[in-house]
Formats: sequence, structure tokens, C-alpha cells
Amino acid sequence: MADVLNYINGEFVPSSSGATIDNINPATGATIGTVPASNSNDVDAATKAALDALPEWKATSFEQRIEWLHAIADALEAQSETIIALEMEDTGKPITLATNVDAYRSVANFRFFADHGKQLPELRYDMENATNFVHRKPIGVVGLITPWNLPLYLLSWKVAPALLMGNTIVAKPSEMTPQTATFLAKVLGEIGLPKGVFNVVHGLGPDAGQAIIEHPDIQGISFTGGTATGKIVAATAAPMFKKLSLELGGKNATIVLDDAPLDEMMKSIVRASFANSGQICLCGSRIFIPESRYDEFASSFTWHVEKLIVGNPHHERTNMGSLISIEHRDKVESYIELAIEEGGHILTGGTSSQHPVPDVPEGSAFLRPTVIGGLEATSRCAIEEIFGPVVTLHTYTNEDELLDMVNGTPYGLAGSIWTGDKERGHQLATKVETGILWVNTWLHRDLRTPFGGVKNSGVGREGGDWSLNFFSELLNVCIHE
Ligand code: NAD
Repeated sequence: MADVLNYINGEFVPSSSGATIDNINPATGATIGTVPASNSNDVDAATKAALDALPEWKATSFEQRIEWLHAIADALEAQSETIIALEMEDTGKPITLATNVDAYRSVANFRFFADHGKQLPELRYDMENATNFVHRKPIGVVGLITPWNLPLYLLSWKVAPALLMGNTIVAKPSEMTPQTATFLAKVLGEIGLPKGVFNVVHGLGPDAGQAIIEHPDIQGISFTGGTATGKIVAATAAPMFKKLSLELGGKNATIVLDDAPLDEMMKSIVRASFANSGQICLCGSRIFIPESRYDEFASSFTWHVEKLIVGNPHHERTNMGSLISIEHRDKVESYIELAIEEGGHILTGGTSSQHPVPDVPEGSAFLRPTVIGGLEATSRCAIEEIFGPVVTLHTYTNEDELLDMVNGTPYGLAGSIWTGDKERGHQLATKVETGILWVNTWLHRDLRTPFGGVKNSGVGREGGDWSLNFFSELLNVCIHE
């Protein structure tokens, strides 16, 4: 049993009430440990530690903090195997994904912001009779709240720029994936990061998470999670005038154009649909295909999807592990059932009771990749976020119809276009209501670029300068000649 603890002022401590939540490995159904069920008392203690540590931390030079980020990246990299093992245990994801995406990016995020920080330009604006100097100051104590799908990857994406800009941190990872946040705390303690600079409070969103949002001494909130939760976060934080970044849900379109060389592209389209069992906010869950190519696309896509290996996350050849929990699988399956009610038909896959994944433990949360045809693009399955291995296929006959369907959801996070003519893809991309669009690729990330969504997918951008601007307050000093 691996019981995780809170990390407050450099010490590992249980929740003040002693209450815990079970941590379950969804690929086995086994309880693997407990998680502190923290409340506002624990958040108070963590915030006090972060406030106390703030003067010393913000007095360090930018160059010193760059060195800290490199030291963190080195220490994490040296223990990548532990990150991989913990993420697999908490999420049920396959080893290749935990290695190439989770562990890799968790290290890369620290390394990237260290290098990017070195190139941060001086902000100076000369006038005829005066000069403006823009200073980047820390916000203060920041609250970082993250989801379960890419636990350390998404947490480190916030921790690195927050530390670099001189803030101290109260972090709350998802209660379903607590282990790597505590592991990060252990690593930071081992390399000697000053006490109180980084604190972790585990627990349920409405308790520990809400207490972070409400805390008057936490002046910035960076939240990644679902849109419904984002609304609650915004409703609490906005009237307190906290600096707020919201990275929320998505319902991303995969757009196939009539000139797309499908044989070359199909594997990538399948990956864009089912990576991490579709539990990546960027996955394409609605595929739009020219009517003239629908039969060709549907049969080839289905054939490739059926080749995906679903099962034991420890096998190198496994493409899809389990979903995050039985409860989440129930939600995903309710959409498969809804699709049938809405007039859709299943091309492959289906619910776990009808089409179980063979040779997986009792009580685990596996689900086959499921492809659904025949649904209206306005059906609930085609516009609501499912966040699982379920993809719907839709046809179009012209660009106007395509754009009406693509833009006909409340979300606008990401998407991809597949074409033989990248200029044509680029032109079309500018007409999609979204924050990120890939042409002939997917999840191809340059960490300097803006990352975030429009409409119900969020407010603000992360990445490169956008993260550094979020985690700092700008002070303009205008000096007369
Ligand atoms: P969630 O909204 O249920 O939880 C996210 C985090 O918020 C968790 O740590 C949770 O404990 C906490 N939380 C819950 N209620 C809270 C409250 N009232 N106050 C403060 N914190 C609270 O989301 P999830 O199920 O963990 O993650 C899946 C969702 O995250 C999907 O919608 C997915 O699209 C989204 N997501 C978005 C991005 C992005 O970059 N836009 C990235 C990953 C995941």
C-alpha cells in the first residue's frame, strides 16, 4: 500500500482530520493506498507556509530560479522510471504512453521553461522624453489545480513557470491520481528547494479544491479540468479579482478533406482519436468526412481501430489501457447507449457488458475503442464532451456545411485537418472556432506556442510567454528624461 501524504512546509503530513480517500488502480480494481481527504484547515496551513516562503523565494534572482528548474528537471529525469510506474498505477495507462508522454513531458516542461526564461526579453518602451521599463513581478501565492488524465505532465506545466516567475505554490492534483504530485514534492525536498515554496494538499475538489479557490491569500488560480468545474472556479475566484487561468474541456473536430492521402494518414488519425483511451482534452472525437469518401474512410478507420491492442498496461505492445475509473467508464458507456437512442450505429466497439475486453481483471475499467456512425452532428453524442474512447463519424458535402457542423459545439479547444494540400488546410484552419489546429499532424507541440481554448474550453493561454505573463504581474515604470 502506498499511502500518499500532503506536503506542507517541507513536511509530509496527513490531513488534519485524519480522513482519507482510497486510491484505486483502475487497470486492476485494487486499492493501492490512501489519499488525504484534506479540508480548509489543511489549505490554510499550506497557504501560510507558501506565504512565509514568498519573501525569500521572490528575492532569488531570475538566474537562480532558472538553475532550480534545471536541477528539478535533472532530478526528475534521473527517476523517470518511478514517474512511469506511479502514473501507470494511478491511471491504468499503457507503459509506452506513460514513458513517451507523461514522464518525458514532465521533465521537458521544467527544462523548457528554464531555457525559455533565459530568452525573456527586457520590456522597454522609449518615448521622446521618457522611458518605460516593464517589470515582471510574482503574483504571490498561486493555487494550481489539475486533472487526472496527464497528472504530472499538467502539474509540471504550471509549476515550472510559477516557480520561475517567483511565486510560491499550493497545488491540488486530482484525488484519483495523487502519487506523482507527492513524488514531485519528495524530489523538490531532496534537492533542497526551500521549505514552503511548493506545497501539495490532496483531497476532493469541493473540499480541498474549493478552499484553495476561496482562500484570500491565494492571489492566482491556474485550473485545468472540466468545464462544469471551471464555472464553479470562475464564479468563486472572479468576484475576488484573482488572476485566473482556465483550461477546460473540448469536443475536437478531426476534419478529413477530399484530397487527403488516407493510407498515409490513417494511423495518425486513429492516434488522435484514441491516445490515452481518448482521455486527452485534445483528442479528436468527431470526424468529418466528405460524403464521397465516407465508405472508404469508415472501413479503413474501423479496420485500424480494431488492430489497437487494449489490455495489460505493462505490455509494450498495448495501445490502450483502462479508463480512469469504473464511474467514468459508466459515464462514457451512457453516451454509447445514448448514441443508439439518437439513431447512431456502432461500427466497432460497444459497452463493456456487450463487448468486454478479454483477459482483464474483475473490477477493472477497460473499454474497447468505439466508433459510431449515423448520428446527426447536432446530436448530444456529437457535441458534448465524452472524454473516452468514443468517436463519431459525420459526412459533409461542402465547406459551409462542414464549418457549421465543426463550429456547432459549445467547445473550442483543438482540432486537426488532414489534406494533400497544406495551404488549403491552413486557410480552412483559420475559419474554425478553436484555440489550436493541427494540419496533417496531431499533438505536435512547440512549447513556445499558445495553448488554450475559446468558448467553453477556457479563458487564457498557457505556453511560453503566455505562461510567464500569467504567472507574473506587470509593473510599468515610466521615467521622465
Ligand atoms: P474535474 O473538473 O472533475 O477536476 C479537475 C480538478 O478540479 C481536480 O483536481 C478536482 O479535484 C478539482 N475540483 C473539482 N471540483 C472543484 C471545486 N469545486 N473547486 C476547486 N477544484 C475542484 O476534471 P477531471 O475529471 O479531473 O478532468 C477531466 C476534464 O479535464 C475534461 O473535461 C478534460 O477535457 C479537461 N482537461 C482539459 C485540459 C486543457 O488543457 N484544456 C487538459 C486536461 C484535461
